[in-house]
Amino acid sequence: MLDVEDLRIRFGTLEAVRGASFAIAEGESFGLVGESGSGKSTILRALAGLNRDWDGTVRLAGEPLGRLRDRAFFRRVQMVFQDPYGSLHPRQTIDRILAEPLIVHGFGDIDARICRALEEVSLPAAMRFRYPHQLSGGQRQRVAIARALISEPEVLLLDEPTSALDVSVQAEVLNLLTDLRRARGLTYLMVGHNLAVVTHLCERIAVMSHGEIVETVTAEDLRQGRVQHPHTVELRALS
Ligand code: ATP
Ligand code: MG
Repeated sequence: MLDVEDLRIRFGTLEAVRGASFAIAEGESFGLVGESGSGKSTILRALAGLNRDWDGTVRLAGEPLGRLRDRAFFRRVQMVFQDPYGSLHPRQTIDRILAEPLIVHGFGDIDARICRALEEVSLPAAMRFRYPHQLSGGQRQRVAIARALISEPEVLLLDEPTSALDVSVQAEVLNLLTDLRRARGLTYLMVGHNLAVVTHLCERIAVMSHGEIVETVTAEDLRQGRVQHPHTVELRALS
């Protein structure tokens, strides 16, 4: 579904991503882990179209993503950030926030779609008239997920979607993401720090270090310690 080949991303002299390759099957949940600064968010931001300055090949269901913004591609690939404010404008009501992608991508039935989207993330319809700061952290992340899903994407890019949340709320949001993937047949690419969270949600996991993928393992391999690279061994030991 999402094929990434030899992705390279530079910031001046820094090679933040040094030739990353992976292929995520339709409906699969693929994780990216690795030390801070290893390039995980940089990969997601490039795939979400937030940074257009990269080299390599990216294909969605076989169709290559050009270097120029391709609106259809970015409807089909949506991102959820660690901080829900990443996609929620603080001075817009939830209604407006959810309407925006619908307008951009030419959807009709805006009102009905907003109600359905809130219902899908288990928020009451009346929340649409609030502003982001009038919601709890968990509710805000639910709105961010609703916003990502409202334009009916096939792939969700999740950048530590629960790590800014209170521990008691983390499990709820993870369960929501698990249910949504099943219900909608979504494909996930998720970045995480907490290995328990990543192995809970992801079937395969790539371990990154200094801009490179050093090892790709299954969640079961990671749980059982069937890992090769010293970096993966260290990551397990730390968590
Ligand atoms: P963390 O786990 O801490 O979120 P990460 O793996 O997501 O780390 P990235 O945010 O992808 O790390 O950053 C990779 C490297 O690229 C870091 O050295 C970072 O400082 C650098 N970097 C990221 N974005 C930019 C930018 N816009 N300009 C310059 N350097 C950047
Ligand atoms: Mg990051």
